[in-house]
Amino acid sequence: MKPTPVIKCPTCKNSGRWFDGAFGPFCSKRCKLVDLGKWFTEEQRISEPLRPEHFVAFDDEPTPPDPAAE
Ligand SMILES: [Zn+2]
Repeated sequence: MKPTPVIKCPTCKNSGRWFDGAFGPFCSKRCKLVDLGKWFTEEQRISEPLRPEHFVAFDDEPTPPDPAAE
């Protein structure tokens, strides 16, 4: 087996063999959640806070309406 390369955690920039961990390429669960949180924050800026029914709506409508397909 090849040794796991040393990488930098995308969130906190700490160097380590994070791919070996359960949260790779992040160094910890906290850093992974912080990165995911950025995306959810972006979503909330352009719309209302996410609710369970929103995810159901996404499941029913996997692709946005395409006028060219009409
Ligand atoms: Zn980190």
